[in-house]
Amino acid sequence: MTPPRLLRRFCLLTAMLAVLVLPCAGFADEAERLPGDAVPTFQAITLSLDAGKMDYTGNTRVLVHIPKATKTIHFHAQEMKLTSVVLKGKGKSWPLATSEGKWGFTTATAASQIPAGSYTLEIEFSNDFDKRATSLYRVESGGNAYTFTQFEAIDARGAFPCWDEPAYKIPYQVTLKVPAAHEAVSNTPVMSSTTVKGVKTVVFEKTEPTPSYLLCIATGPLEYVPMQGMSIPARIVVPKGSTALAQTAATMTPPLLKALEEYFGRPYPYKKLDLIAVPEFSPGAMENPGAITFGDRFILFDPKTMSTARKRLYAIFAAHEMAHQWFGDLVTMKWWDDLWLNESFADWMSYRIADKVYPELGASEYELQHLGSVMAEDSRLSTHAIRQPVTNVDNLFEGIDVTYGKGSATIAMFERWMGADTFRTAIRAYLKKYEWKNAVADDLWNELSAAAGKDVKTPMATFLDLPGIPLVRAELLDGGKVKLTQKRFLGYGVTAPTEQVWGIPMTVRYPGASGVQTQSFLLDQPTAAIQLAGLTTKAAWIDVNAGGGYYRTSVDPAVLATLSSRAQEILSTTERIRFISNIGALVLAGEVKGDDYLRTLQGFSNDPRPEVMNTVIGSLAQVKAAFVTTDLETPFSVYVRQVLGPAAQRFGWDRKNGEEEEVSILRPILMDWMADEGRDDAALTRAEQFAQSFRADRGSIDPSMVNVALRLSAIRGKADLFDEYQKRFEQATAPTDRDPLLAAMGSFRDPALRDRALAYSLGPTVRPHEVFEVAQNALGRLENRDAVAAWAQQNHKAILDKIPPVYAPFLVYVSSACEQPKLDQAYAFYSAPEHTVPGMDVELKKMMETGGDCVKLRAREGPAVARYLMQVGQGSGGTAPAAASRVPQPK
Ligand SMILES: [Zn+2]
Repeated sequence: MTPPRLLRRFCLLTAMLAVLVLPCAGFADEAERLPGDAVPTFQAITLSLDAGKMDYTGNTRVLVHIPKATKTIHFHAQEMKLTSVVLKGKGKSWPLATSEGKWGFTTATAASQIPAGSYTLEIEFSNDFDKRATSLYRVESGGNAYTFTQFEAIDARGAFPCWDEPAYKIPYQVTLKVPAAHEAVSNTPVMSSTTVKGVKTVVFEKTEPTPSYLLCIATGPLEYVPMQGMSIPARIVVPKGSTALAQTAATMTPPLLKALEEYFGRPYPYKKLDLIAVPEFSPGAMENPGAITFGDRFILFDPKTMSTARKRLYAIFAAHEMAHQWFGDLVTMKWWDDLWLNESFADWMSYRIADKVYPELGASEYELQHLGSVMAEDSRLSTHAIRQPVTNVDNLFEGIDVTYGKGSATIAMFERWMGADTFRTAIRAYLKKYEWKNAVADDLWNELSAAAGKDVKTPMATFLDLPGIPLVRAELLDGGKVKLTQKRFLGYGVTAPTEQVWGIPMTVRYPGASGVQTQSFLLDQPTAAIQLAGLTTKAAWIDVNAGGGYYRTSVDPAVLATLSSRAQEILSTTERIRFISNIGALVLAGEVKGDDYLRTLQGFSNDPRPEVMNTVIGSLAQVKAAFVTTDLETPFSVYVRQVLGPAAQRFGWDRKNGEEEEVSILRPILMDWMADEGRDDAALTRAEQFAQSFRADRGSIDPSMVNVALRLSAIRGKADLFDEYQKRFEQATAPTDRDPLLAAMGSFRDPALRDRALAYSLGPTVRPHEVFEVAQNALGRLENRDAVAAWAQQNHKAILDKIPPVYAPFLVYVSSACEQPKLDQAYAFYSAPEHTVPGMDVELKKMMETGGDCVKLRAREGPAVARYLMQVGQGSGGTAPAAASRVPQPK
C-alpha cells in the first residue's frame, strides 16, 4: 500500500506531496486468530451490488477441510446479517448457529458433532455498504454512484464472510450482479457476462491463490483507457467522464512494469492489470493483484495543472504497487508482523525503478529528503524496532513512518554491501521458491546469505531489532588511520537505556595519495581503527557516510569546517543533501550551536543544485518550527530572503526551455518560501499574476506553478476571491484541482475567512480524506495555531465522524506546539477517554516527546538564534559563508 500525506506533516508544510506510509486497519489479537478448525481451500463469492442502494446481499460457498471432529468452526464476518449458514457434506447438512466476537471473529456451532473431512460451507448474508472508504463501500461522485473496496488489513471480513488472515492464501471466484448500465471489475479477467431483466451477471475467472486482504471489487458507470505495450492486457479504469485525465498514467506505466519484469527476471505474474481510479480512497494506492486501486488524485491528471512533482509521485506510487505484484502478492507474508518487509521492499524498489525509468524526475532525491524525517523520528527514545510482534490494534500505527522508511533504507544499505547483482539473484531465488505461497522474513535472509556467501542476517538483524539510529564518530589519526566509534544517536541530554552495537556496512570517502578514494567495510564493534588504503599521513578530510547508509555521523570541528566551506568542491549532490540533514540533527544533539547552523545553511545559498536548495528549505522549515516566534517573524523573513534569494535569482519564476525537471520541482517551493515566509513583495506579486492568468485561462501558466500561485494569491485575497475559489472547488472535474483550491481557501489571512474555510472543510462537499487540507495550510501561520487547535478540539466528534478511521490517531498533531503549556493542554484533551481512539495514545506520546524536545531546544539555542536573526534583520552579519569553524568541540 502507498500512503497518503497526513497530519504528521503539519510541522513541515513545505513537504507538499510528502508521502506518509500507513497500514490501514486493526489487527486481531493473538488470541483471536482463527484456530484452524476449518481450513478453506477455495471460496466462491456472489454479490448483488447496486451502487444506487445503501445495502447489498450476497452468498458464499467455501470448500473447507475439517481436520478433526468438532461441533464448532470459526471464520470472520463483521457486522453483517448472516441469514443462512449451512455446512454440507457426506450426504448430510449441518445448520450452524453463529455468534460474532471482537473484530468479526465468528463462531459457528452445529447441533451435533461434525466428523473430520471435506465439506462445503454455504452462507447467505446481507449488509450495508460502508460509507467511510473502508471495506466494501459506496461513493457518489459527479452525480453517479460507485462501489469500491479497500481490505488491508482486516476489512474483507466486513464485506463478506471469509478467513481474513494472510496465511489463508486460496483461490477465489467472484461473481457480481450489477445494474445493466454498470461495469464490474475484480482481480481477474471476466469469464462471462450476461444480462437478464436489467441485471448484469459478471462471472470472473478463478484467482490464483490470494489472501483475502488483496481481493478487489469496483462497480458503477466506469470507463476504460487501454494501456499499450505491456505483456498482458492492461487498462486504466476511471469514473464516468474522466478518460481524458488518464493519458499521462497510461503512458508512464508500461515502461515501469517492464523494468520490474526485468528486475525480477520473470513476467508480471497475473493475467491482466487494471489500475483503478477511486474518488474516495484513504491510502494513496493499494496493490490488489490485477486490480490496483489508486486515490483518483494520484492517477488522474489534467495536463494543464499537472506539476512535475505529481508526475514524480505517480512514478513512485505506480512502481511501488506494481512491485508488490511479485513481492507481497505472488509471495505473501504469513502474518502481519512481516508487513514492514512487504512495504519496505516495495518502497525501496519504487525509488529504484522510478529512477531507472524516469531519471529526470529525481526519485532518489525525494527518497533522501523523506529519509531525513524518518531519521529524526528514529532519534527519539519513543521510537521502536522495525521488527516486533503484531498482537493487537493498539500498536498498529506505531512508528509507521520509521518502519517503512528505515526498512527501505536498511535494504538499500545491505544491497550496496552485497552488490546489486548478488542481491537481485537472491530476490529472484526467493520469489521462485515461495511463489503463490506465504513466507516469513527469515526465508528471505536465508536466500540473501546464501547468495552473498556471507552472513547477512546477523548485521541486518541489528537494524531490524534495535530501536534508534547509530551515530558513527570519526577521528582522523596520524598514519592514514581513522578511529570510528558508534553509539545510539539521541537528542541533547538524553542517554540510551542500554548500550547498542550495530553491524554497519560503511563506505567512507577521503583524499588519497592519487585522488579521492572510497573504502567500504562492516563496523560491528563499538570502536575500531581503520587503515585508509593508500594513505600514510593524516587525511585532510573524510566523508563518513559516502554510501548513504542508515546512520548519523560526527567529525572533528576542523573537518566539519572543511566539508562545509568546500562542500560544492568536495561533496557530490547527494552527499551535500546528507550533510545538511546530518548537521540539522547535530543541532538537536547539542553538538552544533543554533546560530552556527543558521550560518551554515546560509553557506549553501549559492549551491547550484535545485535538490540541495530543496533540502535547505526543508531545514528552514525546521528552524521555523523550533525557533520562530511572532516577534522573530520579520527578522526571519530577512534571513529567508538572504538564504533563498540567490536561488530565486538563478532559477527565476518562469520555466525555461530544456531546463531540468528538478528545477521545476523546486521552483514552486522556492516561490512559496520567498513570498510567504520571506515576505518578498516581488515574488508575491508575481504569484498573484500567475493566479490571475490561470483563472482567466487554465492553460496559460506552467502547470507546476498552479498550486503555489493559487495558495499565495489568497494571502492578500478578499472575500470575493474566497467565493470564487469555493465555487471552482465545487465545480472541479479534475481530482488534482481539488486540494490546491482547498489549500488556497485555508491560506486567506483574514481570520473571518480562515474560520469560514475551517467550517467549510467539515461540510458535505469536502471528501473525508480532504478534511485536513484547510487546517494544514492555516497552521502554516503562527497566528493561526491556537485558533486551528481550538477548532479541532471543538469539532472533535464531527471530525472523527467524517475522516477515514485510519486518519483518526493523527488528529493530535493539529495541536502540536513548541510550548509546554499548549502541549499539556493537548495532552489533557486527547488522552481523555471521551476523546481518544485506538492508536491515538501512541501518537500523543510521540507528539509530546517531539514537542518537549523542541521546548528544550528553544530554551537552549533560542537566544543565540534570536540574536543572530535580529542581527541579520538589521542588515549586519549573516553573510559569511559556513562558519563551521565556530562549531564547538564534540562531547
Ligand atoms: Zn505498499
